[in-house]
Amino acid sequence: MNNEIIKPHWLEQILNSSYAGILVINKKREILYVNSRICEMYGYEKDELLKSSAEILHISKESYERFAQVAVKFALASKPIDIDYRLKRKDGTYFWTHMSGNSIKGTDETVWTAVDITPRKVLELKNIQQGKIIETIHDSIVSIGLDQKIIQWNEGAENLLGYKKEEMLGKNASSLFCEKAYDKFVRKITLIMNNKKHSWETAIRDKNGDKISIDLSLALLEDEDSKPLGAVGYIKDIRHKKEALKALRYQANHDALTKLPNRLLFHDRLEQAIEKASKAGTTMALFFLDLDHFKEINDSLGHKTGDEVLKVVADRLEENVRKKDTLARLGGDEFTIIIDDLKEGRDASKIAQKIVDVLARPIFIDENELYVSSSIGISLFPDNGNSVQDLLKYADSAMYKAKSEGRNNYQFYSSDMTELATQRVVMEAGLRAALKNEEFVVYYQPQVNALKEELIGMEALVRWEHATEGIISPAKFIPLAEATGLIVDLDRFVMKQAMKQISTWHEDGLNPGRLALNLAVKQLQQKDFIEFLKNTMLETGCKSQWIELEVTEGQIMTNPEEAIKILDKITDLGIELAVDDFGTGYSSLAYLKKLPIDKLKIDQSFIRDLPQDEEDAAITKAVIALASSLNLKIIAEGVETEEQKEFLIDNGCVYIQGYLYSKPIEAKDMELMLSNERFVLKK
Ligand code: C2E
Ligand code: CA
Ligand code: CA
Repeated sequence: MNNEIIKPHWLEQILNSSYAGILVINKKREILYVNSRICEMYGYEKDELLKSSAEILHISKESYERFAQVAVKFALASKPIDIDYRLKRKDGTYFWTHMSGNSIKGTDETVWTAVDITPRKVLELKNIQQGKIIETIHDSIVSIGLDQKIIQWNEGAENLLGYKKEEMLGKNASSLFCEKAYDKFVRKITLIMNNKKHSWETAIRDKNGDKISIDLSLALLEDEDSKPLGAVGYIKDIRHKKEALKALRYQANHDALTKLPNRLLFHDRLEQAIEKASKAGTTMALFFLDLDHFKEINDSLGHKTGDEVLKVVADRLEENVRKKDTLARLGGDEFTIIIDDLKEGRDASKIAQKIVDVLARPIFIDENELYVSSSIGISLFPDNGNSVQDLLKYADSAMYKAKSEGRNNYQFYSSDMTELATQRVVMEAGLRAALKNEEFVVYYQPQVNALKEELIGMEALVRWEHATEGIISPAKFIPLAEATGLIVDLDRFVMKQAMKQISTWHEDGLNPGRLALNLAVKQLQQKDFIEFLKNTMLETGCKSQWIELEVTEGQIMTNPEEAIKILDKITDLGIELAVDDFGTGYSSLAYLKKLPIDKLKIDQSFIRDLPQDEEDAAITKAVIALASSLNLKIIAEGVETEEQKEFLIDNGCVYIQGYLYSKPIEAKDMELMLSNERFVLKK
């Protein structure tokens, strides 16, 4: 209708001022008309286009043919065409055009309008490409709208969380989180409205309901006008990282060998236990446990066996403490146990005794039957102290007390132990100096055939002649010398002195009998011990048949297999061997038979209450019978009374050592005794 008012001379101007290019082609696809916009778009002069084939605007013949085919299809269906197509300018560059074609009624001609859509098309393609990348990317990407409904769920998300895209599109994001994590998520969404981006560690649930630790980076999704459309979330699975961190934390807090808490974690736990006990008003006990013969095992059988022993010990301890108690390994053969919730400190003794008992049982490793046993010191909160340092120090002092009480036992801390601990430090320094200054003297105690009242030999017993303290008993310093390793030098000093003395007496025509020397097992384990023994015999002129070595039952039985090897070498030299303190250890009959020993020494603890004490009497009789059946000599030590002597003789033990005959005496007194000038066997 409006056509009526369009004046024909306007028409050209209207067509030329259109933003769209306009061209008309005929059936043969020759260009019949172009407006100026077409010329601008394609870079041609009008004349160059008119009468040309439309092919001129296409990038190739094939592309032109394809376009023509589509056009024909639409024409046949009598529909207008709309198509985005890539065309070519005169200068050879390509660009995207949106083409709409309409046949002009009643003619074979078609009018086309063309709009340059290159910028939009480039963006569109970019989006499609990005979309494809996002869809297939390995990482998980999930987008949500402003209503928190999921609008994008890529393959990475499918793989990580197990839900298919179809299941998740349209679902609320809350379905992925547990409640707390979701609250946080909502808070973060508000945050990114201002900050655009935000990332934090959280957790989501997969289709199986399993919790997955993730790193979630959230970014705001906006349209061209910067109006928010929603958020895109980039989800990174950090389970590996978390596990690695956890493993690291575990390593820092646990002992690699036994998997028990280490010193670090122990300190933490002890602090917590103190706090807990002080709030609840309960008592807490700290056990400090040290194995008795671990070093010997480690030195003789090697670290691998030592490690196995520690593992067995850790297992046994674990089986004997409650779940809530903390068992830790401080290092080496030192363990600690925190026992809280005690009504009374003394309640700890039952647990301590149980542990002492289970650790005294033999440990079998390869073909070795090993005995370690343990010494436990116990400090109590609040009775003894209220700080980690004090409780540890006190438990440690009590442990030393347990060691000096003969090991294989437990002791509660008492205040005088601190004094003892100080004394110990002073004494260790003193011992070293005494060795250097030769403050040690050898005493001799006669061993007698009680039937014949004849001297058969003597035991060398060391004394420390202290400048200010006077004579110090070995009972006071031998355990410390053993613990510090000073015993090796000390024993060698005693051996040299005593062997020289015996040789002198022999040279002087005296008959001192056999000299018994006490040796710590640590001494026997020295690589050069046999060498030392031979050299010392040579140097001092002492013959092998003049001496006998005493090793305690406990020390032999710590590692009997190893002991057999060393003792064999000693007997090969023609030296006799006696088992000292017999009856106090855990000898197995099988080993007694295998050991190359000549003599058993009944421990004085069994002699003391003879003949009244029935149990002691029975044990003494049994030991004598055992020696006889194994063809071993037998001697009793610590014999003080006539009754004891009678009892022993009556039961077949005629060798006797003890105050009944003589206390240990100095060499010059022994010499008098030997030369019969003052033979005072009987007092
Ligand atoms: P031991 O080998 O069991 O020595 C016997 C201990 O009993 C000695 O104590 C001795 O004096 C004591 N004794 C002897 N007869 C009687 C008695 O009738 N009644 C009582 N009550 N005691 C008696 P001593 O000399 O104090 O030695 C203590 C321990 O020190 C020894 O026990 C031994 O294990 C160790 N020892 C002594 N000298 C040496 C040494 O040179 N090297 C090593 N490794 N240990 C030594
Ligand atoms: Ca002895
Ligand atoms: Ca003894």
